[in-house]
Amino acid sequence: MERDTNTENVVIIGSGPAGYTAAIYAARANLQPLLITGFNSGGIPGGQLMTTTFVENFPGFPDGVMGPELMDLMKAQAIRWGTKLIESDVTSINFSDRPIKIRTLEEEIYSNSIIIATGASANRLGIENEDIFWSKGISACAICDGATPQFRDAELAVVGGGDSACEEAVYLTKYGSKVNLIVRSNKLRASAAMADRVLANSKITIHWNTSVKAAIGNDWLEKIKVITSNTTNNEIKVKGLFYAIGHTPNTSFLNKQISIDDKGYIKCNPGRPETSLEGIFAAGDVADSEWRQGVTAAGSGCMAALAAERWLTEKDLSKTIKREKPEPEKSETSINAKHEDTNEETFDYNSQWQKGSYALRKLYHESSKPILVIFSSPSCGPCHVLKPQLKRVIDELNGAVQGIEIDIDKDQDIAKQAGINGTPTVQLFKDKLLKKQWKGVKQRSEFKDAIKKLI
Ligand code: NDP
Repeated sequence: MERDTNTENVVIIGSGPAGYTAAIYAARANLQPLLITGFNSGGIPGGQLMTTTFVENFPGFPDGVMGPELMDLMKAQAIRWGTKLIESDVTSINFSDRPIKIRTLEEEIYSNSIIIATGASANRLGIENEDIFWSKGISACAICDGATPQFRDAELAVVGGGDSACEEAVYLTKYGSKVNLIVRSNKLRASAAMADRVLANSKITIHWNTSVKAAIGNDWLEKIKVITSNTTNNEIKVKGLFYAIGHTPNTSFLNKQISIDDKGYIKCNPGRPETSLEGIFAAGDVADSEWRQGVTAAGSGCMAALAAERWLTEKDLSKTIKREKPEPEKSETSINAKHEDTNEETFDYNSQWQKGSYALRKLYHESSKPILVIFSSPSCGPCHVLKPQLKRVIDELNGAVQGIEIDIDKDQDIAKQAGINGTPTVQLFKDKLLKKQWKGVKQRSEFKDAIKKLI
């Protein structure tokens, strides 16, 4: 299966539906693509579906599918056909040299063609005190942070009038006592089905023609200042403010070497993946300001891979692999395996990874090893990204540290005691003392270095 070259056929940048679909097609064309997932830049690996609950409009899932689960499946399919993954951010690309030079945080990569599928990132409002209350009441991801103890039975607010805002407002009614949907105009932009759900929900109040101006509070957000119809100033007492105000395409790393439009989207010929540069293709939201759906992104990823394959063949640059077997081994993705909480019967002192409050209490009080606790919530996409990373760290340290997963939705008291205000949060303990805490997805090396100091 090895290719005798250091230059890749095709590098795909981005790991949303467009990137993974491009990878599946390029891998099945025996091009052994390299996919750079992204890490800190442009949202989390897996893209926007990682921060969505049920996706009900992706064909093939009649009862809907959780966004992170759908992305796990796409990733497994791409890997099964031979896609190589690098979990890093691209820091720069030089398109003037051929092969093209791509620099990531760790290494330099050369490729004959590129598919850019970096998607778009969530926008912020930039209101007064936003930085002070970021993660202390203000969040850009209701789906990740909604289950946080501080939001339970509290009044909350969502800003925006699109599908995301409506979905998040409905989702938050599960936790908050009331949800204020703050819409800057007099109409919702969301699809009719989504808007109907909001309008029919008695726990949601819509504030039309209203903008948020400032966040106010002490240690945690207590209220927001809003202005309605440019005349009335008002305050709404909320403990949570969630942004759902659209996205900006992730194209700044391209440094204007490629044609982009005035909003930053990559310019392609209508309905085609070719960019202004030969051998460089674009797919998904990074080149689509109009449709922006998982399924359209996947479709455009397919087109980009087919176009890249054709181009490489035309230029006589394609170096394909020979497979030993026509069909690869079945994927080992375990997304359907429901991992139950550890209980008295299933608890194991030596297990590297257990789940729930029973295991936490036992190991916290009795283990002499460091323990790594990940606080997650049911549909938290970043938690999906982080859990396998932490399991790898524990594996690489040969079990010198033990991992425990706490679902903050199920174990609310523990989450409260631990002061959790968003997921994922990881806490590292040794001898009942908290040694370090991380919020969000971090590089494996950060966890590893901190653990090594304790063993
Ligand atoms: P959209 O761009 O569709 O909507 C953004 C919303 O935020 C608009 O209502 C806009 O107001 C408002 N807004 C923008 N800037 C500001 C601001 N500065 N202050 C106040 N309000 C502001 O983004 P979404 O993330 O909602 O959706 C993106 C795409 O993803 C869409 O195509 C959507 O259909 C899709 N999607 C689908 C889902 C599903 O099917 N399950 C779930 C989520 C998203 P205005 O209308 O006045 O411009």
